[in-house]
Amino acid sequence: MKAVRFHRHGGPEVLQYEDAPDPEPNSDESLVRVSACALNHLDVWARNGLPNVVIKMPHISGSDISGIVEWVPPEETRFAKGDEVIVNPGVGCGRCDRCLAGRDDQCSEYKIIGYGTDGGYAEFVKVRRTHLIPKPEGMSFEDAASFPLVFETAYHMLVTKARTGPGDRVLVLAANSGVGIAAVQVAKMLGAEVIATAGDTEKAAKAKKLGADQVIDHYKQDVLAEVKRLTNNRGVDVVVEHVGKSTWDGSVKALAKGGRLVTCGATTGGEAVTDLRYVFSRELTIYGSYMAGMGELLEVVKLVSQGRLKPVVDSVFPLERAAEAQTRMEKSGHFGKIVLKV
Ligand SMILES: [Zn+2]
Repeated sequence: MKAVRFHRHGGPEVLQYEDAPDPEPNSDESLVRVSACALNHLDVWARNGLPNVVIKMPHISGSDISGIVEWVPPEETRFAKGDEVIVNPGVGCGRCDRCLAGRDDQCSEYKIIGYGTDGGYAEFVKVRRTHLIPKPEGMSFEDAASFPLVFETAYHMLVTKARTGPGDRVLVLAANSGVGIAAVQVAKMLGAEVIATAGDTEKAAKAKKLGADQVIDHYKQDVLAEVKRLTNNRGVDVVVEHVGKSTWDGSVKALAKGGRLVTCGATTGGEAVTDLRYVFSRELTIYGSYMAGMGELLEVVKLVSQGRLKPVVDSVFPLERAAEAQTRMEKSGHFGKIVLKV
């Protein structure tokens, strides 16, 4: 098959469009012919290399996959060759106490497809059969690939962790990012008032169109001061954090008494300083959030099928131009998901 692989860590130039062996699924897996695969920042981190993370080389990235079932073993009853599917990007063992309690993301064997395994920057991918989900009818493969990882993440953060509800004020950082776009929509769906941050007026307008009530320009304005102004000094009830070091201090201080901070990432670095006086005196709660369980993703698929949550695709590149697509993501000029068409 054709695939985009890297044989060593480095910049976009290490991505090579080349021949690769066809994946050979075993009996608990299936073979999926990839139609579309969305990019995530994880792809860039894997390509650059992370301390203490071993990526088996050559590696195929790509966690958000839609496609057509090419092969399943004869005993499979739910899916057959030709079925259009979405692949759950996170894979637990399916047997342990955490998996059986619906907390697949806490499974000790949890792997993200395209990070802990070979992924969807390829014509074919093998995945465990339990992670196939029927693609909603009438949805394009590009849209179908664009939403699972970021929407299940936002759902896990706002619903499962922060228990967001009507009347809550939610601050969503970087509303132009994949997680940000999803979080604005999920928070609105839950009846919250949303204050978002974005990098320019064009992105601010797009964030408002998605449902943000207020948008702060995070380059030109002081986010904390603006949050205070917009909330009459009260602060917000929930902060959706995924930026890390550069925003953490402001995120903690932006919380109202009893506020909840949920973090799913640290794009600008993981060594942030927390002023503990705010944490105890305001009785704050800090949640870590990592992907989501299969049940949560199925809920998200239902909400997307109903049109209550909308995938946002920034651009589509052919597979062989994956390096160009990653460069676009690294420059942060995009709004929505960047998708590879295979
Ligand atoms: Zn497990």
